[in-house]
Amino acid sequence: MAARITRSEEEWRAELTPEQYRILRQKGTERPFSGEYVHAKADGTYVCAGCGQPLFRSETKYDSGSGWPSFWDVIDQGNVELHLDTSYGMRRSEVTCSRCGGHLGHLFDDGPQETTGLRYCINSASLRLKPDSDQS
Ligand code: FE
Repeated sequence: MAARITRSEEEWRAELTPEQYRILRQKGTERPFSGEYVHAKADGTYVCAGCGQPLFRSETKYDSGSGWPSFWDVIDQGNVELHLDTSYGMRRSEVTCSRCGGHLGHLFDDGPQETTGLRYCINSASLRLKPDSDQS
Protein backbone atom coordinates (compact mmCIF):
# COMPACT_ATOMS: atom_id res chain seq x y z
CA MET A 1 0.00 0.00 0.00
CA ALA A 2 1.28 3.43 -0.90
CA ALA A 3 1.94 6.03 1.76
CA ARG A 4 -0.95 8.21 2.73
CA ILE A 5 -1.22 11.58 1.10
CA THR A 6 -2.73 14.59 2.76
CA ARG A 7 -3.60 17.93 1.26
CA SER A 8 -5.28 21.02 2.61
CA GLU A 9 -8.84 21.73 1.54
CA GLU A 10 -7.51 24.61 -0.56
CA GLU A 11 -5.16 22.26 -2.39
CA TRP A 12 -7.92 19.75 -3.04
CA ARG A 13 -10.19 22.51 -4.34
CA ALA A 14 -7.48 23.65 -6.71
CA GLU A 15 -6.77 20.13 -7.98
CA LEU A 16 -10.25 18.71 -8.36
CA THR A 17 -13.25 19.78 -10.39
CA PRO A 18 -16.11 21.16 -8.27
CA GLU A 19 -18.05 17.90 -8.74
CA GLN A 20 -15.03 15.77 -7.79
CA TYR A 21 -14.45 17.94 -4.73
CA ARG A 22 -18.08 17.70 -3.63
CA ILE A 23 -18.03 13.91 -3.85
CA LEU A 24 -14.47 12.96 -2.86
CA ARG A 25 -13.94 15.50 -0.10
CA GLN A 26 -17.47 16.25 1.05
CA LYS A 27 -18.94 12.74 0.70
CA GLY A 28 -21.43 13.79 -1.92
CA THR A 29 -23.23 11.55 -4.37
CA GLU A 30 -23.68 12.12 -8.08
CA ARG A 31 -27.14 11.77 -9.57
CA PRO A 32 -27.83 8.21 -10.80
CA PHE A 33 -27.14 7.61 -14.50
CA SER A 34 -25.34 10.97 -14.68
CA GLY A 35 -21.76 9.80 -14.29
CA GLU A 36 -19.17 9.32 -17.00
CA TYR A 37 -18.55 5.63 -16.28
CA VAL A 38 -22.03 4.22 -15.63
CA HIS A 39 -22.06 2.40 -18.97
CA ALA A 40 -18.31 2.26 -19.60
CA LYS A 41 -17.15 -1.06 -21.04
CA ALA A 42 -13.52 -0.43 -21.96
CA ASP A 43 -10.83 -2.71 -20.54
CA GLY A 44 -8.68 -0.95 -18.03
CA THR A 45 -7.99 0.05 -14.47
CA TYR A 46 -10.14 2.49 -12.53
CA VAL A 47 -7.91 4.62 -10.33
CA CYS A 48 -8.81 7.13 -7.63
CA ALA A 49 -9.58 10.53 -9.16
CA GLY A 50 -8.02 12.14 -6.11
CA CYS A 51 -4.65 10.39 -5.93
CA GLY A 52 -4.33 7.85 -8.74
CA GLN A 53 -4.32 4.74 -6.58
CA PRO A 54 -5.60 1.68 -8.54
CA LEU A 55 -8.99 0.64 -7.20
CA PHE A 56 -11.01 -1.52 -9.61
CA ARG A 57 -10.49 -3.54 -12.77
CA SER A 58 -12.93 -3.46 -15.66
CA GLU A 59 -13.34 -7.27 -15.43
CA THR A 60 -15.17 -6.85 -12.11
CA LYS A 61 -17.48 -4.07 -13.38
CA TYR A 62 -21.08 -5.06 -14.05
CA ASP A 63 -24.42 -3.45 -14.80
CA SER A 64 -26.29 -3.35 -11.50
CA GLY A 65 -29.03 -1.11 -12.85
CA SER A 66 -28.42 1.30 -9.98
CA GLY A 67 -27.17 4.16 -12.14
CA TRP A 68 -23.70 4.15 -10.61
CA PRO A 69 -20.61 2.22 -11.70
CA SER A 70 -20.74 -1.11 -9.88
CA PHE A 71 -17.97 -3.57 -9.18
CA TRP A 72 -18.00 -6.94 -7.43
CA ASP A 73 -14.41 -6.73 -6.20
CA VAL A 74 -11.51 -4.37 -5.55
CA ILE A 75 -8.01 -4.77 -6.95
CA ASP A 76 -6.56 -4.97 -3.44
CA GLN A 77 -8.42 -4.89 -0.13
CA GLY A 78 -5.72 -2.61 1.22
CA ASN A 79 -6.53 0.08 -1.32
CA VAL A 80 -9.91 0.89 0.20
CA GLU A 81 -11.22 1.40 3.72
CA LEU A 82 -14.73 0.75 5.02
CA HIS A 83 -16.55 2.92 7.53
CA LEU A 84 -19.98 2.57 9.11
CA ASP A 85 -22.20 5.33 7.69
CA THR A 86 -25.47 5.94 9.53
CA SER A 87 -26.46 9.09 7.62
CA TYR A 88 -29.94 9.44 6.11
CA GLY A 89 -31.35 6.89 8.58
CA MET A 90 -29.52 3.99 6.92
CA ARG A 91 -26.71 1.70 7.99
CA ARG A 92 -24.29 1.52 5.12
CA SER A 93 -20.62 0.77 4.57
CA GLU A 94 -18.89 3.81 3.18
CA VAL A 95 -15.93 3.07 0.90
CA THR A 96 -12.95 5.44 0.90
CA CYS A 97 -9.56 5.43 -0.80
CA SER A 98 -6.91 4.22 1.66
CA ARG A 99 -4.32 6.57 0.23
CA CYS A 100 -6.04 9.98 0.10
CA GLY A 101 -9.13 9.32 2.21
CA GLY A 102 -11.40 10.35 -0.66
CA HIS A 103 -15.04 9.24 -0.54
CA LEU A 104 -15.73 6.70 -3.28
CA GLY A 105 -19.21 5.31 -2.58
CA HIS A 106 -20.77 2.48 -0.60
CA LEU A 107 -20.51 -1.30 -0.35
CA PHE A 108 -23.60 -3.52 -0.43
CA ASP A 109 -24.04 -7.28 -0.24
CA ASP A 110 -26.45 -7.63 -3.16
CA GLY A 111 -23.81 -8.17 -5.85
CA PRO A 112 -23.79 -11.01 -8.38
CA GLN A 113 -24.15 -14.32 -6.53
CA GLU A 114 -21.83 -16.15 -8.93
CA THR A 115 -19.01 -13.80 -7.89
CA THR A 116 -18.26 -12.34 -4.46
CA GLY A 117 -21.88 -11.33 -3.89
CA LEU A 118 -20.64 -7.81 -3.23
CA ARG A 119 -21.57 -4.54 -4.91
CA TYR A 120 -19.18 -1.65 -4.70
CA CYS A 121 -21.42 1.26 -5.71
CA ILE A 122 -18.98 3.97 -6.76
CA ASN A 123 -19.34 7.52 -8.05
CA SER A 124 -17.91 8.08 -11.52
CA ALA A 125 -16.50 11.38 -10.28
CA SER A 126 -14.33 9.51 -7.79
CA LEU A 127 -12.76 7.43 -10.56
CA ARG A 128 -10.53 7.83 -13.58
CA LEU A 129 -10.32 5.02 -16.13
CA LYS A 130 -6.88 4.20 -17.43
CA PRO A 131 -7.60 2.11 -20.53
CA ASP A 132 -5.33 -0.88 -21.17
CA SER A 133 -4.84 0.47 -24.71
CA ASP A 134 -3.27 3.61 -23.24
CA GLN A 135 0.43 2.80 -22.90
CA SER A 136 1.29 5.93 -20.96
FE1 FE B 1 -7.22 8.34 -3.46
